[in-house]
Amino acid sequence: MTLFCKQCNDRRLPEYHPEEKATLWLCTKCKNFTDVNDLIIREQTDEERETIKRKEKEFAESTNFPSAKLSRRKGVN
Ligand SMILES: [Zn+2]
Repeated sequence: MTLFCKQCNDRRLPEYHPEEKATLWLCTKCKNFTDVNDLIIREQTDEERETIKRKEKEFAESTNFPSAKLSRRKGVN
């Protein structure tokens, strides 16, 4: 079953990957991605780990200073 990791029985998180054109399931404990058929596609890269960390940090910062941050970030995407 895709929702739970075969190796550690932890919950996986679905994540859409445009470059693979598929939703992959990430186990944050094992740091690997599986497809819907429960096949391990690849491991999570350091870069992806950093991106998630950075996003979490940005999110925390933006909730601390909502007005200033949000108005400056308009159209940055
Ligand atoms: Zn796992």
